[in-house]
Amino acid sequence: MQKTAANAVARPIRLRMDFAALRHNFSKARQLAGATKLWAVIKANAYGHGQFQAARALDDLADGFALLETENAIALRERGHQKPILLLEGFFAPREIAALARFRLTPVIHDPAQLEMLSAASERPASAYLKVNTGMNRLGFRPEAAGAALRQLEALGVRDLTLMSHFAEADAATGVAAQLRCFQSFAECFPHLPVSLANSAALIRFPESRGGPNDWARPGILLYGGSPLADVAAQQLGLRPVMTLESRLIGVQTLAAGDRVGYGGLFQADRDMRVGIVACGYADGYPRHAPTGTPIAAAGVLTRTLGRVSMDMLACDLSCAPAARVGSPVTLWGDGEGGAVAADAVAAAAGAISYELFCAVTNRAPREEV
Ligand SMILES: *Cc1c(COP(=O)(O)O)cnc(C)c1O
Repeated sequence: MQKTAANAVARPIRLRMDFAALRHNFSKARQLAGATKLWAVIKANAYGHGQFQAARALDDLADGFALLETENAIALRERGHQKPILLLEGFFAPREIAALARFRLTPVIHDPAQLEMLSAASERPASAYLKVNTGMNRLGFRPEAAGAALRQLEALGVRDLTLMSHFAEADAATGVAAQLRCFQSFAECFPHLPVSLANSAALIRFPESRGGPNDWARPGILLYGGSPLADVAAQQLGLRPVMTLESRLIGVQTLAAGDRVGYGGLFQADRDMRVGIVACGYADGYPRHAPTGTPIAAAGVLTRTLGRVSMDMLACDLSCAPAARVGSPVTLWGDGEGGAVAADAVAAAAGAISYELFCAVTNRAPREEV
């Protein structure tokens, strides 16, 4: 929409993507993974960053791309991407199966229903991941059923097989030890098969889960500059924000002690103060539950939000930003003209995670690439 200055959307909110930062973060994942191959996880429109743009930026770096929908995988092929593509939930319906072979897509097989669909199909994929449920109890065959599923896949002519599992608590104190033990006691019966276990958190925290040169890790959030760990900031991990949500002040109010701000009057001034009104609200994807005190940067100063987030606006404290006026730049998260604010910090204040913030940004904020 905002192709030229003349037809640019005048409302000042922008979603700026720094794909050089994505490449930088990928190289961090590479360092963490050692010789292990890397799927770049670009599901959910690359966590809100744009799957095609992300795939273009990573095409020469990643060993393959992991996402959900067969349709999106085909769209990548049609744009010329040749690398392996992993469908993280496999296929959902029989009509997808013919495309798996035709477009060289690797489905995750996690349920007997998929085996039934495969055995009824006339064309089958050359490769598949067999998902083992090692304790998350979301998708996958229990270890005692996984061996039979594997043999069934082989009998159906699916020859290029990888064993996978997913960790429920790689980001928590519980860790991965029990799931890893469960997985290994199954996988050691198939020493010739590659494995794929680690997500971002496991890559960072549990080197023993990364695998070797024939194996694959599956980092997502760390590529986008979010920390998967509550106790370690993205910056400490050497990650850079890819997405910056930025806007400008469109109004300034001067409050007297006792004045209140916004719907419900949730914030009340205890002294005279200046308040900035930012062109960004929950209809742009900013979390509505972000309370007073959520970090935000205005005119280069790190400050806090005030009161309830509205659909189209939110308020911030300008007490420490005397130079701020209408038109001053504001950073909601990322690294922008208004200052730098970690998405993880905004998410933590709002009781969310950065994944959620990134995925929630709406089309109303025009996108720009740098
Ligand atoms: C989303 C997903 C990942 C990536 O997880 P991050 O925490 O973003 O690194 C890895 N594996 C599977 C199966 C997933 O669904």
